[in-house]
Amino acid sequence: MDSIEPQQWGGQARTRQSCPFHFDQNAPFHLYMSKPFITSQQIKRVTDCNSGHPGKDFTFDGAHWSNAYMPYPNMDFGTPVYAMEPGTVLWVQEGKPLCINDPKCEPNSVAIQSADRVVTEYVHVTPWVKKGQQVNTGDFIATLAPSGNFNVQPGGKPLPHLHINRITTPGNSVCEHIFSCNWAIVGADFPSWYFNPFHHHHR
Ligand SMILES: [Zn+2]
Repeated sequence: MDSIEPQQWGGQARTRQSCPFHFDQNAPFHLYMSKPFITSQQIKRVTDCNSGHPGKDFTFDGAHWSNAYMPYPNMDFGTPVYAMEPGTVLWVQEGKPLCINDPKCEPNSVAIQSADRVVTEYVHVTPWVKKGQQVNTGDFIATLAPSGNFNVQPGGKPLPHLHINRITTPGNSVCEHIFSCNWAIVGADFPSWYFNPFHHHHR
């Protein structure tokens, strides 16, 4: 998210934000069954959802805050992002520049509302869909982009990553949304073997 990336350099996490975030603590657990990247590599959650960071950050190709100086040939800005679920594009935010260590800087994003009205927002991207467009699971919707705030050490560079928000009740701004942290992506931050039929319990 633009204003709220925790700084985890050197093992120290520091969170900054421009407003308090609101959460639905009773939102039922939701599991996304499709991943936002097409890659044979392991998609990793590098930042979890919490009171100061209302979504989760994902990378692959070894990209991580702790070694953000390394080059990531498959996980750079421009990496395609795919819809994890079907729905309608509720909003698209465009034209927001890269900011470094500026918590008030807004990001580009694509927000898709599913049939249950919940909104999944893909943040730090260049949108490739338009408001009102219908999308299906796996549709190409955006590319990763240096847009919004990235907290960067002196001399460092922004780590490309996808921030995902799950918004149970959208408001008019990030400060008005109601978020849920109670979700995961199967095979990324939730074990894919969970749905392996050979692990089912019988009788
Ligand atoms: Zn984030």
